[in-house]
Amino acid sequence: MNQVEQLVLRRLAADGTFIAVMYGYFVEGKSPSELADIAGMSRTAVRAKIQRFRGSLHDVQVKHLLTKVLPHVNGISPIILKLNGKHYCLLCERVVPNPITHIRSKHRDILQKLTQHVISKARNGGKP
Ligand SMILES: [Zn+2]
Repeated sequence: MNQVEQLVLRRLAADGTFIAVMYGYFVEGKSPSELADIAGMSRTAVRAKIQRFRGSLHDVQVKHLLTKVLPHVNGISPIILKLNGKHYCLLCERVVPNPITHIRSKHRDILQKLTQHVISKARNGGKP
């Protein structure tokens, strides 16, 4: 899965924490321990997420990518609603145990379509 697809997936799943951690680290230059406090995760977990997201890219490439695509990613409406600690899928109209797995298996078409949309928007430098 490429970085844009991961961001779109987290946005659809209403996982603002993931996106905030990536933005905080790559764009704002915050340290993993600062972000661990903000995200309520361990520093090790934050580091692992950052590394997985970075993949084979350099930090400066990730920064550039986030700056270009996030305005478009943020224009997407989540399909998961968090209610009392549960995750409700607005498309299936039911509670789902793991929103990430759910979107990847049941709403793959939407995920791919939106990813392509974000990539083409970012490439054209258009407004969200
Ligand atoms: Zn669903």
